[in-house]
Amino acid sequence: MSTYTAEPTIVYIAGYGRSGSTLLDILLNAHPYIFGAGELTEIFEAAAARTPCSCGQPLDACAIWSYVLNHLPAHTTPAEAEHLTRRTETPRWLGGSPRNDEAYGLLWRTIFQAIAHQTGARMVLDSSKNSRNTAERTAALIRTTHLPVRIIHLVRDPRAILYATFRGSNRRLEQEGHAPTRRTAMLRVLIGWMMAHATVERTRAAYPHIPVKRIRYEDLTGTPALTLQQIGGFLNIDMQPVINRLHTGAPFEGGHGIGGNRMRRAGAVHIRADRAWEQALPRYAHLLAWATWPLAHRYAYDLAHPNSAPQGAST
Ligand SMILES: [Zn+2]
Repeated sequence: MSTYTAEPTIVYIAGYGRSGSTLLDILLNAHPYIFGAGELTEIFEAAAARTPCSCGQPLDACAIWSYVLNHLPAHTTPAEAEHLTRRTETPRWLGGSPRNDEAYGLLWRTIFQAIAHQTGARMVLDSSKNSRNTAERTAALIRTTHLPVRIIHLVRDPRAILYATFRGSNRRLEQEGHAPTRRTAMLRVLIGWMMAHATVERTRAAYPHIPVKRIRYEDLTGTPALTLQQIGGFLNIDMQPVINRLHTGAPFEGGHGIGGNRMRRAGAVHIRADRAWEQALPRYAHLLAWATWPLAHRYAYDLAHPNSAPQGAST
């Protein structure tokens, strides 16, 4: 059994990928009470694949993660832990199997407590979000760990996510010859966006006592100080030190995040609103985005207008 006495708060970044969770993780990790763990659900996979932590070391050589991996519940191997995690966090209709809440709860409670023990943080930020095989993670952590959970529901304009997903590929977005394939792939992304946010809404309804703060990516990048203040209010901490660091251009620590992207090792953070999609996204993509209408509308994205200016306030 776990011997830890600390009861860290799990701060869960819920939502879909490519929504700015790495940026939010870097910013919040700069607060002394918070440890940004990155995409924590991938810990066993990253350890097995020797994917480096954002400190540059493989997990078994990193001071934080080697400790955590060496303090799993008794008789639990990382391979078993990975299997249990995937089985529990994947929705049944995508192949998840009957859950073992007791073992899952012990595993993840122990991991969060080990992180808090090793880092001294009161809050552990988990950016695993809710895409496909992590869809049920938020609910599972609430249901089984008996640790306090707070959810930051991060949303971003689905049209910007389409652009972010496809601009990196070799073929240009508007290349006509591949448009049918591209359209199908885009629709898949939009359905993923819908499913992830619908899962967050469902979790919210199932656990009404869990505090949730919705943050729009456009507000985080458009009015970062105000948005950070709102997050500080939500977590009952003073975000001014982080805001000051942002304003002075002082470097941010890369920390010890799992997964995420290269931004974690960038040092100084320069926030800029990434709005290239407003000019570059082809018309058919704007039309496809209407598939997300009910939730996009709920999150104040006006699909009839080709921009998503910050609102300056979130709900
Ligand atoms: Zn590390």
